[in-house]
Amino acid sequence: MRIVIKIGTSTLAHATGHLNIRRVEEICKVISDIKNAGHEIILVSSGAIGMGVGKLALSARPTDIPTKQAAAAVGQCELMYTYDKLFGEYNHTVGQLLITGADIESEQRHHNFSNTLNRLLSLGAIPIINENDTVATEEIVIGDNDTLGAIVAGSIRADLLVLLSDIDGLYTADPRSNPNARLITNVNEVTDELYALAGGGGKQGTGGMVTKLDAARICLSCGCDMVIANGDDPQHLYDIIDGKAVGTRFAKEK
Ligand code: GLU
Repeated sequence: MRIVIKIGTSTLAHATGHLNIRRVEEICKVISDIKNAGHEIILVSSGAIGMGVGKLALSARPTDIPTKQAAAAVGQCELMYTYDKLFGEYNHTVGQLLITGADIESEQRHHNFSNTLNRLLSLGAIPIINENDTVATEEIVIGDNDTLGAIVAGSIRADLLVLLSDIDGLYTADPRSNPNARLITNVNEVTDELYALAGGGGKQGTGGMVTKLDAARICLSCGCDMVIANGDDPQHLYDIIDGKAVGTRFAKEK
């Protein structure tokens, strides 16, 4: 299978903005193993801004664009250094791709991006993608990595997109405030009713449930399945790939 895995900031970092070492080590180990089993893996990783905040010892996530971009410049290095080191331990090679909305909108650049991705895969590398936050301003921003993950999955005809987040999946109500909230395990179509159920985002990252539903819509239109799952236990990835019930799976009725 060709699998895109999107890792959110809340999965990678502690609330302090510093790296969650145990979690990231486990994720890289499981992904390396899945790749060794013959699957193609593409990572879409958030965390540049979050990790920059930690490394620059900023008191909170910046709101102004220059500080956000500076934090991303620092954090992206830290992120790739970490992935390079951890995947290297399992003999896997990583490659970094940073893109903006303008690279997707331009047919030529989108085509170049897909070509590079496909070539990295045929060379056996693990492409690691993030938005190029150091230059992405409002006019050209993709905005969130859930959408970026879906665009990537569509561009390279992936079989599956997995969104690893700090929630177990899509619920019938906000599980943090409503004890009767139930996890929705299977979705065939992204409807307005589902959007009405989707609440706001987490504290550290950018995407919320709405961006995840947008991503699901893109995936379903491309014939790609999508799963929202909690990134707290990377071992779940094995079950997700085996098609077992974990989190919320979006798939067209077969
Ligand atoms: N590109 C952002 C970062 O690396 C994350 C965007 C997102 O999580 O949706 O910090």
